[in-house]
Amino acid sequence: MSEHARVALVSGGSRGIGRAVALRLAADGWDVSFCYRSDAEAATEVEKLVCEQGVRALPAKVDVANAGEVADWVRRTEEEFGEIGVVVTSAGITRDQPLALMSDDQWQDVVHTNLDGVFHVCRPAVFAMMKRKAGCVVNLSSVSGVYGNPTQTNYSASKAGIIGFTRALAKEVGRYGIRANAVAPGIIDTEMTQAMTEAARAKMLKSIPLRRFGAAGEVADLVSFLASDRAAYITGSVLQIDGGITV
Ligand code: NDP
Repeated sequence: MSEHARVALVSGGSRGIGRAVALRLAADGWDVSFCYRSDAEAATEVEKLVCEQGVRALPAKVDVANAGEVADWVRRTEEEFGEIGVVVTSAGITRDQPLALMSDDQWQDVVHTNLDGVFHVCRPAVFAMMKRKAGCVVNLSSVSGVYGNPTQTNYSASKAGIIGFTRALAKEVGRYGIRANAVAPGIIDTEMTQAMTEAARAKMLKSIPLRRFGAAGEVADLVSFLASDRAAYITGSVLQIDGGITV
């Protein structure tokens, strides 16, 4: 990868895992262009923290389910920052419901955001990477996408789709020097999981061998590794980071 390709594109970078990834990649020396959907205050905070690391930040209000908005964001990033070297897709939502009660909206919101969103972000970014013959993609999946989770048929399907997408992409673009991997976290302490009841949290903790939820920074450390040359021979992999919950 050229010296100039220290530009990272992070979807869902304003909160949770995406926020931790944005800050970690900034600490690694990457300029960070990140998108969020609604929380401008959180995005401004991340922008400030990224800039404090001595690199550039570009926050963008973009709905990843909207292909046109995403394409504009990618174009703007390349215009303002230059070549994108790494893409991390972290934007994601849950709308849990047992299948028999699941509405069309609950299904479509999750699949459009989580799976279509990855397609929308990766397509323009990978096209540019292919021309340069370098780049790296890290897509946030979930252990729910590997093993399935009750009340999450929509979410599990979207996250399993991301794994298929990532493996196919790895095979497709490896010869261009582009790597693509998926990270499948277990339960990570973010606003997404803070919505759980205390009883549900306590029950869940008992099923985790390490007896704690993961921290967003721990997932960011793994993403940072995958984005680095230390992971130069890793592609098409699904790396679980789950405290052993799936053992
Ligand atoms: P959070 O809810 O904490 O943060 C989600 C982020 O995505 C926010 O920045 C949010 O922006 C953004 N976002 C949501 N929808 C859109 C959209 N349509 N367009 C653009 N941005 C959007 O989630 P987590 O950090 O917990 O999760 C991050 C990823 O990791 C997700 O893909 C999730 O499925 C996955 N994951 C999380 C686990 C966990 O335990 N937390 C476990 C396994 C996987 P805004 O605030 O503006 O809406």
